[in-house]
Amino acid sequence: EGSFDEECDYLFKAVLIGDSAVGKSNLLSRFARDEFLLDSKPTIGVDFAYRNIKVADKLIKAQIWDTAGQERFRAVTSSYYRGALGALLVYDITRKTTFENMKKWLHELRKFGDSNMVVVLAGNKSDLGHSREVDVEEGRSFAKLEGLCFLETSARENLNVEEAFLQMITKIYEVTS
Ligand code: GDP
Ligand code: MG
Repeated sequence: EGSFDEECDYLFKAVLIGDSAVGKSNLLSRFARDEFLLDSKPTIGVDFAYRNIKVADKLIKAQIWDTAGQERFRAVTSSYYRGALGALLVYDITRKTTFENMKKWLHELRKFGDSNMVVVLAGNKSDLGHSREVDVEEGRSFAKLEGLCFLETSARENLNVEEAFLQMITKIYEVTS
């Protein structure tokens, strides 16, 4: 009998990127372990987490990388992006600058990542609508312009988190198979 790993049909690497404190680590912990940390420290970021997902009868092992806070100093190295077939590009809907910085992060993704990389734009913290600084429409039109998938998410309320990762993984599968 083979191990669970050997039974996987595909292994995909994907990365999380965006400014510090937008909720990347919490989106990952929600997706991988269904956990949310009220007061997570930027240095607590795990290296990566795995989740197995079935797409079109194939078992996909998604290896999702998180930063350990390097993005704070814009010091994410090219090795972080290497081999990644997908990315979740995250901003915080309550902080306009994190949205304005999406252009820079997208530029890094395109410079260092795979040319077919599937990018999903996530406007996180949708539970904080009362402090919103970025309209849904702004997120949507930026995504459309850049050819990205788009959703607003809340790691805290567990809204659209599963959908965001699953969209990315399903698209990677479609692009690579
Ligand atoms: P990272 O630096 O991008 O990895 O961000 P973290 O995941 O460490 O989250 C930064 C802060 O935002 C923490 O205090 C989290 O509890 C909080 N946070 C993350 N996601 C959400 C969310 O969806 N809603 C709210 N209200 N807070 C969030
Ligand atoms: Mg983090």
